[in-house]
Amino acid sequence: MVTTVVILKPGHFFKYCCLLLALLVTLEFVFNFAAHYNVSAGLSLFINAVVPISWKKMRSGRHGVVHDDFTQCVSHKPLCPEVPPHLDGSIKVKKKALSFRLLDNMNSDLRPGGRWCPPGCVSRHHVAVIIPYRDRPSHLKVFLRNIHPFLQKQQLDYTVYVIELVPNIPFNRALLFNIGFVESVKQHNYSCFIFHDVDLIPENDRNLYICSGEPRHLSVAIDKHKYRLLYSTIFGGAIALSREHFIKVNGFSNKYFGWGGEDDDMFKRLQRQNMSIIRYSSDVARYKMLAHPKDVPNPNRLKLLYEGLKRFHRDGINSLRYTVVKTEFRRLFTWILVSVNPDDVMKEENTTEATHNT
Ligand code: UDP
Ligand code: MN
Repeated sequence: MVTTVVILKPGHFFKYCCLLLALLVTLEFVFNFAAHYNVSAGLSLFINAVVPISWKKMRSGRHGVVHDDFTQCVSHKPLCPEVPPHLDGSIKVKKKALSFRLLDNMNSDLRPGGRWCPPGCVSRHHVAVIIPYRDRPSHLKVFLRNIHPFLQKQQLDYTVYVIELVPNIPFNRALLFNIGFVESVKQHNYSCFIFHDVDLIPENDRNLYICSGEPRHLSVAIDKHKYRLLYSTIFGGAIALSREHFIKVNGFSNKYFGWGGEDDDMFKRLQRQNMSIIRYSSDVARYKMLAHPKDVPNPNRLKLLYEGLKRFHRDGINSLRYTVVKTEFRRLFTWILVSVNPDDVMKEENTTEATHNT
């Protein structure tokens, strides 16, 4: 073996820069270095700009990182291990909002629409992460910066959906979740749905974004609430429901415009269908909430909640009416802009029985 000793002389500065550049480009080509290690955002952008696209395609072909169609996510590979092998536990939340351009470059292995599956094994979990959204661009940037590496370490086959409501209609978180469910299952056979606020950033990668036999409340301990559960039946923030769970309760109620109530309504639906919720311990199910002013609570929410169980067979995914204004398969997420008519939503439904109620 030959060892080369490089003696650093100021006059050789240019040569050393070239050597360093060659090393970075080689690392990127062979290991997809920038995507898998926590290199700084600036360095990542630089590497992605320097490595020619044709090289990336060669690398992708060899390692199966980027596929033209999704059949490659499910064939010719072993199943991923039950416990993802490279979890760190506690992770540092990156709170700076980077530009979408930079984020796109840092996530060059995502397919259009914010879709990903593990390169070396077939994921056990097909997960749609659904975000209700309006006018919180910096939250969305921070969320996306943190969530993609988090989900990839968990070896999930996932897509991030951002469901945005057109302006001039009161916000309706639960209705956007219902739309996200219906639209996402048109695209792929997801078995697990994560309904997630845009401002919650997980602090521990052992908080698995997967579904099991029971619905799970993910956001147990939030910094804003001093990492304490506010009340025992709370089911807001971020939750995981399997396709069967969601269909069994006819999704969320569509009627909660404004802030509050829809999460408690969902808890009552689950209870009514004899499902209990589970939670991981608060040292794992931990989140930071990005700062925002508190919204004005919907004055009707308690009345809606009180009557919720009478309605739940008629009010949910079986009565959902909406218009998709636009769908875009962006690098980091599938963006679906939707519109609804609040008067129609608040009318008594004609549906007599839930078609999804099994
Ligand atoms: N949201 C949004 N824009 C809004 C209001 C709400 O995008 O103007 C979404 C966003 O995903 C947010 C979630 O709805 O995290 C819940 O709203 P908020 O964070 O205001 O609720 P709180 O934290 O007060 O329960
Ligand atoms: Mn919030």
